[in-house]
Amino acid sequence: MPIYQYVCTACQAEFELRRPRIDATKKAPCPECGTAGKRRVTEFSRKK
Ligand SMILES: [Zn+2]
Repeated sequence: MPIYQYVCTACQAEFELRRPRIDATKKAPCPECGTAGKRRVTEFSRKK
C-alpha cells in the first residue's frame, strides 16, 4: 500500500497515511486536532 502525505488545513500539521490508492484523494483526519487534512502532492516528477 502506498503512503500518502497530508497536511492539516487548520494547524498545518503534516502526517502520513498508508492507505489504498482508491482512498488517496479522500480527506484524512489530522492526528493533532482531528480536522480533515488535504493531500500533499509530493514531487515525484517521473516522466512516463
Ligand atoms: Zn490539525
